[in-house]
Amino acid sequence: MHELSVCQGLIRQVERIAAENAATSVDRIVLKVGPLSGIEPELLRHAFTIAREGTVAALAELELSQGSIKVRCRLCGGAGEAAVNRLLCPDCGEWQVDVTEGEELLLLSLDLETSL
Ligand SMILES: [Zn+2]
Repeated sequence: MHELSVCQGLIRQVERIAAENAATSVDRIVLKVGPLSGIEPELLRHAFTIAREGTVAALAELELSQGSIKVRCRLCGGAGEAAVNRLLCPDCGEWQVDVTEGEELLLLSLDLETSL
């Protein structure tokens, strides 16, 4: 399952940040999952409950933020939002666009618990 390896990478990143901040546990993890990231939110949530076990994030809540898709036109330079199944220039309707946002999987924020 692709989502499980994604989650394991995420947990490693979270553990590193928690260690840097001397956190005893992680309460909440907020992720941005771009609509074009290829990640299935439900599978990601399920994989997360497996990947977090025995880590500093064992009791963490996972919050997913979908985000939007943005494109830039190669012909007219127009930029704006586009829909998943309609990646067209918002200005001229051309299909030769570059996706500038929507493919990413990003760690947006972490709520850390420290013993201090
Ligand atoms: Zn255009």
